[in-house]
Parts: sequence; structure tokens; C-alpha cells
Amino acid sequence: MSNWQPDSWRSKPILQQPEYDDKAQVAHVEQTLSKYPPLVFAEEARELRRQLSDVCNGKGFLLQGGDCAESFAEFNAPKIRDTFKVILQMAIVLTFAGRCPVTKVARMAGQYAKPRSSDMETIDGVTLPSYRGDIINSFEFTEAARRPDPNRLLDAYHRSAATLNLLRAFAQGGLADLHQVNRWNMAFVENNPLKERYQDMARRIQDTLEFMNTIGINSSNSSTLHETSLFTSHEALLLNYEQALTRIDTLTGKPYNCSAHMVWIGERTRQLDHAHIEFFRGIHNPIGVKVGPSMKEDELIELIDVLSPENDPGRLTLITRMGADKLEDNLPRLLRRVKAEGRNVVWSSDPMHGNTFSASSGYKTRSFDAILSEIRQFFAAHEAEGTHAGGIHLEMTGQHVTECTGGAYQISDEDLKEAYKTQCDPRLNADQVLEMAFLVADHLRS
Ligand code: PEP
Ligand code: MN
Repeated sequence: MSNWQPDSWRSKPILQQPEYDDKAQVAHVEQTLSKYPPLVFAEEARELRRQLSDVCNGKGFLLQGGDCAESFAEFNAPKIRDTFKVILQMAIVLTFAGRCPVTKVARMAGQYAKPRSSDMETIDGVTLPSYRGDIINSFEFTEAARRPDPNRLLDAYHRSAATLNLLRAFAQGGLADLHQVNRWNMAFVENNPLKERYQDMARRIQDTLEFMNTIGINSSNSSTLHETSLFTSHEALLLNYEQALTRIDTLTGKPYNCSAHMVWIGERTRQLDHAHIEFFRGIHNPIGVKVGPSMKEDELIELIDVLSPENDPGRLTLITRMGADKLEDNLPRLLRRVKAEGRNVVWSSDPMHGNTFSASSGYKTRSFDAILSEIRQFFAAHEAEGTHAGGIHLEMTGQHVTECTGGAYQISDEDLKEAYKTQCDPRLNADQVLEMAFLVADHLRS
């Protein structure tokens, strides 16, 4: 890898970074973090890469999701458990429908840094720095809260470690039992206003599990039914944090970013000659890049070649976030070109970020129908181009918030105020996101 060093990104232009007052303290924190234990192990990142290579070859599906921004205030076990549960619930539906393995990747245990459309925010004539995620500053609208604090990098590390610890315990400790997971799905369907639409599949899964029990395949003798693997991911925006957690793997001698299994570059920081691309090209994790409607075909091929020079399937996931009204004009041209040039990538759909708008009530929201429309068009475009629709990437929570409109419970603009809890983008709630899984399952079946 020509001239790459864990810190070679520092000589490139970089966007979306905080301006700290105390630079010496930043350096001190970076030093501290670089001596802390890694959060994940390189072999786990390689296992995810292997699974994603199957996805790339059309033999799997990637389910990635979680908060837009994790929050220090909402750092507790029920919150982590509920998101974990709903990811498993979705995965069982998608696995059954698609007849293929579903790789589960949470936006958790490190999703703390946010790019913002504006550096400053004005409320009632007062202008302060924008909130950039809890790893940088605090959401509260006061001068002290909005001042970037380098010690938050350490707080984020410790919270990520504790989150990951609980996720690992849940994954192995029985909470991931398939029989249990489908019982939750049956309860969801039973209570859903659109029950008829979803009960058939939930029942068929139930029958399959009961049949397996009858012939003696059950959770007490099968670790596949009892345990799961859940990987973690986040947008690697703060490169000093990511650099400090980048380590040379003792088995392969290669650098891995051990802050998460998978990391991605956001739509706002993917400029070819900038710092994020430079940092990412040298780490050996599976990586993602967000791709919006303005991406040109030539630029995309160049980006793929810098980030995945060996063209290894599983290395690179392109997470397209076009907007339901722009997808048709922009996704097919990119699919065609990447296919024609023989580049191996996983294509995943983020149907959230191109479909955000302000409701009449003033809340930033997204509609269930626009999200579903983008996913449907994503599948249709892949079908038409002969490429594999490899996954979905959702902003979601296992809790009963009211942040996105629509779905079976018909959340309206007026309802948004009931439980609007996000500090950043609006998330699908537990019912909406499971409903989405049942609807996506229809596409996997056909
Ligand atoms: C995000 O995933 O929260 C995000 C900021 O997305 P994008 O980079 O696609 O705008
Ligand atoms: Mn977001």
C-alpha cells in the first residue's frame, strides 16, 4: 500500500471535524486511547468480510441498522436489548423469505459522531455551534454544552465497550434463541392492525420451528438455533479516534481499525483527495461508503479502485441513499457501469437519508411510504440490471418512538410530538421497522 500510515490522513484536507480549544488535551486523549484495549478483534472483522463476500456473490443479505446517533443520555440496558431484539426479529423474517443467510450489523457501540449540514445553529436569535454527536459536544442548547470537549472521546470509548459487552452476552446467552425470537414476531403480528397481511409468514416460520423441534433439532442441542453473531459498525468520522484504535493484527501483520467490525464514510466526507478516503484505504476491515444521487459514474469507479484495489468481494459495500424521487435517474446508471467494469461490491440501500423532510408540525421526519418506495425501487433496479440487491441500512430503534410518519399504526404529523426522542435523524420505531422487514421479505421471495 503506497505511502499509507495510520496518520497519513493528517496531511489531507478534512471536513466535518470539531474545533477544540485545548489541542494539548486532544493529543493527550489520543495517546491514552492508543494504549487502551481494542474493542473488536481483527479475526471477527475478517469473518464479517467473508460473510459480505457471500452477499456480494448473491448468496446472502446484509441487514444493517440502529440509531442515527447513539446518545450518552439513553445509554442503558433496555435500550440496547430492544434494538438487538428487533434486529433479530427482522433477520428471522428475512432469512426465511430469502432462503439465504442474513448478516446482521448494528449501528451501535460507537455511532456517536455526526456530520452536520451547518456548523452553527440559531434558535430565537441565539447562534451556537451545531450539535455534532455525543463524542464531540452535548445536545443541550447552551454555550458550555456545545463546546467540543476532547474527554468525550474517552467517554464514547467506554460506552462502546460496555454496549459491545452486553451485545456479546445477549448473542450467546439465549436471548438470540430462534424459538423465542419468533414468539416475539407472533406477538407483533397478533397485535398489528394489518395482521392478515403478515400472519401467514409468521405462522409458516412457527411451523418450521415446531417441525424442527419434533424431529429433535432444538435449541438445547443446536448452537445455531441458540446463538447468533451480531457485528458492530459506525460512521468513522473522527479520524483521530479511529487512528488511535487502529492496530496491527498479530496474525496477518495488517492494520485493522478495532473500533468496530465495519466502518463507513459518510456522503459528506467521501471526496477522493480528502482525509477519510486516505485513512480507509489502509485499514483491512470491511468498509462502506454512502453514495448519493450526485455521484458520477467515473468518480465511483475511481473511488472503488482506491478503496478496493484488489477487487475482493466483501471488502467494499456501497450504501446508496438516493431519495425515492431520485433513485430511478441515478441508481441504474451506477449499477450498469460498475457491472460493466467488473467491480465487486455489495450494494445496500439506505432508504432513510434521501427522504427526510420537515413536517407541518416542525419536526424533521420521514414517511414510511417513501422509505418503502425507495427500497422497492432499489430491488427493481437490481432486477432490471441483473445485479444483486445485497442489503438494507436503516435508522431504527427497538423502542416505541414517534419520529417517522405512517406504517400500520398510521403515525401522523400531529402524533410526532408524542415520543420524538432522537437527537439527530428520525428513526423507524419497533413496529414500523418490523413491518418493513415483512414487506421487504416479499421482494426476497420473488
Ligand atoms: C447517517 O448515516 O447518519 C448519515 C449522516 O448519512 P449520510 O452520510 O448518507 O448523509
Ligand atoms: Mn442519520
